[in-house]
Amino acid sequence: MLSTRASTIDAVASPAERRELLKAVYEEARGCVRCPLHQSRTTVVFGAGNADAELMFIGEAPGANEDRLGLPFVGQAGKLLDKLLGEIGLERGDVFIANTLKCRPPQNRDPHPNEIEACQGYLRSQVDLIEPIMICTLGNFSTKLLRGDTTGISRLHGHDEIRMIGHRAVRLYPLYHPAAALYTPATLESLRADFHRIPEILALGPPEQPTPAPVLPEDIEEVPEPMLEAEEPPEAEEPPAVGFREPAAQLGLF
Ligand code: URA
Repeated sequence: MLSTRASTIDAVASPAERRELLKAVYEEARGCVRCPLHQSRTTVVFGAGNADAELMFIGEAPGANEDRLGLPFVGQAGKLLDKLLGEIGLERGDVFIANTLKCRPPQNRDPHPNEIEACQGYLRSQVDLIEPIMICTLGNFSTKLLRGDTTGISRLHGHDEIRMIGHRAVRLYPLYHPAAALYTPATLESLRADFHRIPEILALGPPEQPTPAPVLPEDIEEVPEPMLEAEEPPEAEEPPAVGFREPAAQLGLF
C-alpha cells in the first residue's frame, strides 16, 4: 500500500464512517434526475475502488460498457489504465476511480456545461469523503472542472500543483486521458512518462491543510434565554440507512 496520511478531517470522521457516508451519496446519485442524462442512461456510474484511497483518478464520463455494467473504465481505455497502474505497482483496489459525469452522454458526445454543473456536487462529496492526497485528472473535462479554468490538458499534463478542492488541499496532477493515448503513440508515451512520476509525487505526502478559521466571540450568536432551559435530551438518531440492495460490486467499494 501507499504512504501514511494525516488530516484534520480524519479526526472528525473515521474511514468507516466516511465509507458509510460515501455509500449514502451513492444511494442518492443512483436515483439522480438532476439533468436530462437520466432519461437515456442505463446505470449511474458512481465510481469504484478504495473508499479510503490516497490516489483518485477522475475521467470524463461513462461510455457504453460503463453504462451497461455500472463501473468506470471497463473498456479499452480502462485496460490501458489498469496496465499503467500495474507499471507503478498499483491495482484498482488501491485507488478510487470516478468520472466528471456519472451518466453516459448519448453517443459518447462531450459533456455539456449544464450536465457538469448538475453533477459536480457528487464529485465534490467523493473528494471530501475519500480524502485523497492526490488526484489525477484524466483529460480536459475533469482538469478544467477541478482547476476552475479553461487551460487545456496539453499545457498542463505532467505538472503537479497543490489546489483546494472543496474543503481540502490536494496534489492535483493532470494527465492525458487514456482514450486519447490508445491510437496516438506520442500521447501514450507522454501519459506513461507522467504516470511513472505518480509514486514520487504521492511520496511527498498530504499537502498542508488550511487551518479552520477560529470562531471569534462576535461570531457566536446570543442564545435567547428561554432556549437555555433544560430540554428533554433528543432521541438518539437512527444511523442513516445504508440498505444496499445491489451487490457491493456495483459500487465497487473495496
Ligand atoms: N470510461 C470512463 O469511465 N470514463 C471515461 O472518461 C472514459 C471511459
